[in-house]
Amino acid sequence: MSEVKLADAVNSRRTFAIISHPDAGKTTITEQLLLYGGVVREAGTVKARKSGNFAKSDWMEIEQKRGISVTSSVMQFDYEGKRINILDTPGHEDFSEDTYRTLMAVDSAVMVIDAAKGIEPQTKKLFQICKMRGIPIFTFMNKMDRDSREPMDLIGELEEVLGIEAYPMNWPIGMGKELKGLYDRYNHQVTLFKSGEGANADSDHLALDENGDLSDDEELKQDSWYQDARDNMELIEDAGNSFDEDKIISGDQTPVFFGSALANFGVKTFLEIYLKYAPRPAAHSTQNDGEIEPTDENFSGFVFKIQANMNPNHRDRIAFVRICSGKFTHGMDVTLERTSKKMRLSNVTQFMADTRENVDSAVAGDIIGLYDTGNYQIGDSIYTGKNDVKFDKLPQFTPEIFVRVSAKNVMKQKSFHKGIQQLVQEGAVQLYTSYSTGDYILGAVGQLQFEVFQFRMKNEYNSDVIMEPMGTKKARWINPDQLDEKMGSSRNILVKDRNGDPLFLFENRFAENWFKDKYPNVELSEKL
Ligand code: GDP
Repeated sequence: MSEVKLADAVNSRRTFAIISHPDAGKTTITEQLLLYGGVVREAGTVKARKSGNFAKSDWMEIEQKRGISVTSSVMQFDYEGKRINILDTPGHEDFSEDTYRTLMAVDSAVMVIDAAKGIEPQTKKLFQICKMRGIPIFTFMNKMDRDSREPMDLIGELEEVLGIEAYPMNWPIGMGKELKGLYDRYNHQVTLFKSGEGANADSDHLALDENGDLSDDEELKQDSWYQDARDNMELIEDAGNSFDEDKIISGDQTPVFFGSALANFGVKTFLEIYLKYAPRPAAHSTQNDGEIEPTDENFSGFVFKIQANMNPNHRDRIAFVRICSGKFTHGMDVTLERTSKKMRLSNVTQFMADTRENVDSAVAGDIIGLYDTGNYQIGDSIYTGKNDVKFDKLPQFTPEIFVRVSAKNVMKQKSFHKGIQQLVQEGAVQLYTSYSTGDYILGAVGQLQFEVFQFRMKNEYNSDVIMEPMGTKKARWINPDQLDEKMGSSRNILVKDRNGDPLFLFENRFAENWFKDKYPNVELSEKL
């Protein structure tokens, strides 16, 4: 690929994740986007997959049970000259550190909020990771075809709870049964809501005059919902934030779109404006060579997720790689930075949802899946060219739930230790050791991580494990110089992480506050 062509291809990429609390409408909106991309021809395809009615692939058993499949965790489609990669961030019990790490591989995020509920816990957690990375966040206030909370409250909540400036791109005219349309501030028009089967909303527009008033349609003009929307827009125009592209790019301002994913209302406009402002693939910083531009002709990328295939006869896995620069071609040789080994990339999946096209190359911004027999680890860098490339370390996320783990068969300590060591190194779970008893304690952000751990210990290391749930804990690191083993109490457990750093696992917030009162000079920190 010539330089110009590479730059064109890279510039057309938009790689993002949709973050939301379960049931906010992530699946529904994803499906509408795929419909616009011409990838699925029927609504309900993604949904069917979620409920388990979809054709089963031969991936790991746990996945099958849950109806998720590896290939569907990256969806790719083309729309108006852009190539879009949507990375799935699973919810419910599937929530795991992988979910967080997926956010390390995207250039922006779409946050879907159920407008009747506002910000829910999981949205907040995922938002915080996006904020930490400083990536742009676009908000879709969903389910306006149902009675929702006051739009002004929802905007206020974004600012107060998440600490981000909100810029409403449109405003709902009515809601629920009274939903009349959207006052589209950005496109300077009113889009009328047509309900009913097959209604492709987003098609009937009424122009606004230079004052922002409807030019004709006296009836709607007199409608109290319209007047209400108009007043709110005016208020926001006067007293609200001004549209600031730089702030959007730095993740300090979020454009907010009201709509309904189910009624396909406001989704197309959202997609088009999103594609206009969402950034192309960003440069990535390395530990040894400054920043690497996506258009650099040398190929580079990092592993952000490893999906194990539980079939004991195959024992292979897929390492998900975010391409950071250059172009991948089938069969190319790369260097794996950690081991300096040459690897041939010949067994690779490309997550092209549109099967009509057989793509055998991918560029910066795209995600490829490498079939792996145990060579790759989470956080690994791969590259071509003479210069060593070592991307920044992926952050470690503070675990929230814990189990005590031991080998069922005391005679099989060797395989137990080997398994734990390797799975911890791979980033499947976090490992802690109790100061007082030497017990092994595992930490995770989601229950699925423990299930996968237990399954893989048995299948890959032939080690049956006993896991004793300990529930949720607050993990707080302590400066080793300030540590006194007497600080342990019945409400906290003193442990070491795998680097030997000490931390307390507190029962709850009260236990943590009690500790802080008792030892006011001791610094506690939460890693992220
Ligand atoms: P996810 O868990 O975030 O993927 O949520 P889903 O997309 O599965 O949606 C959860 C439920 O909300 C489903 O029953 C959807 O049909 C419904 N839903 C999604 N979007 C809308 C919407 O805009 N309006 C209404 N009324 N229901 C919606």
